[in-house]
Amino acid sequence: DTSALAGAGGGSVDITGVVKRFGTSTAVDGIDLHVRSGEFLSLLGPSGCGKTTLLRLLAGFEQPDAGDLAIDGTSVLGLPPHRRPVNTVFQAYALFPHMTVAENVAYGLRQKGLRRKRVEAREIRRRVGEALEMVRMGEHAQRSPNALSGGQQQRVALARALVNQPQVLLLDEPLSALDRKLREEMQVELKLLQSGLGTTFVFVTHDQEEALSMSDRIAVVLDGRLQQVGVPEDVYAEPASAFVAGFIGKQNFLPGHLVQPGVVRCPDGTLATRATDLPDGSAVLAAVRPEAVQVTAAEPAGATNRVRGRLAGVAHLGDTVQRVVVTSSGLEVLARSPRVAADPGTGEVGAEVWCGFAPEHVHVFPST
Ligand code: ATP
Repeated sequence: DTSALAGAGGGSVDITGVVKRFGTSTAVDGIDLHVRSGEFLSLLGPSGCGKTTLLRLLAGFEQPDAGDLAIDGTSVLGLPPHRRPVNTVFQAYALFPHMTVAENVAYGLRQKGLRRKRVEAREIRRRVGEALEMVRMGEHAQRSPNALSGGQQQRVALARALVNQPQVLLLDEPLSALDRKLREEMQVELKLLQSGLGTTFVFVTHDQEEALSMSDRIAVVLDGRLQQVGVPEDVYAEPASAFVAGFIGKQNFLPGHLVQPGVVRCPDGTLATRATDLPDGSAVLAAVRPEAVQVTAAEPAGATNRVRGRLAGVAHLGDTVQRVVVTSSGLEVLARSPRVAADPGTGEVGAEVWCGFAPEHVHVFPST
């Protein structure tokens, strides 16, 4: 039950023209981003793209060289970290080993916001108890953090960060130290907790599956710049660049040249694609998702794109079947289809096959 701490509401975040340089390198290169009140927004990008720096700027651990940062419409640039209505959860939980779980969470109350006010012991106990219940750690209040599993420690760190009801919670890869199964459990829990509380979450990750499964919206960052901001479905289905197309989910890229709008000539044949406003003759990448590719023994009929190849591998992944085809020009094409009882099969590995895919599933990007 998260109702005890709910009601504070989430703050909106406005990042406007923010630049941060370290010496001659630019970690954040002019980012504009609006995070809505109560939203779960992920900053997603490869290592070194500037997402941690952006989080540290919001927290007040770094100062921008240009631009403004505002929470609920008020600039926080002049405020030191402990005066900002935000809290941060780091990958390393940084719990104090000499304190109990409850004392660690109470420290969160003292550290920020309430440090100038005298909070009665009874009030502290009540709030700490609520925060621990919220992350299902109430019964471990008197234990030492050393006696807890990684997932439990991460829950305590969350309770400590949420106990004084920040308007915005900043999370820097908080689940990356957990093993896969626990991480997936915590993803679900964290998302439930967030939507129950209504606190705005800005969540840094380099894990695209994590971002896709948890976020209301994803902001994809590369080289200190925003590549695309959108709901997970759109970022997946309508990527704005070859980078986003390849970074989120699996993608097949077929290099070629644009012959005319919607027609790309590749070493493996001429493809009909979605429309593009690139000039004719451009070097491009035709991108098609594995689930849009059908592998068949017989040549596909109709207006479908077809690429000839040899079946190089078949993997049965529970509810899906994944096939790798090596095309005549030597490209590997990945195809993924739901496992159905009536799957006609495509013969043995080594068999000659066709890859078929519809033009509307082929995105075209400039190859740089
Ligand atoms: P990671 O996931 O590896 O933490 P990131 O996307 O969070 O990557 P940042 O940590 O924000 O990236 O780093 C962005 C760039 O800024 C990197 O090139 C990094 O080396 C540089 N950088 C970050 N902090 C500092 C610092 N205090 N001094 C100098 N350079 C820094």
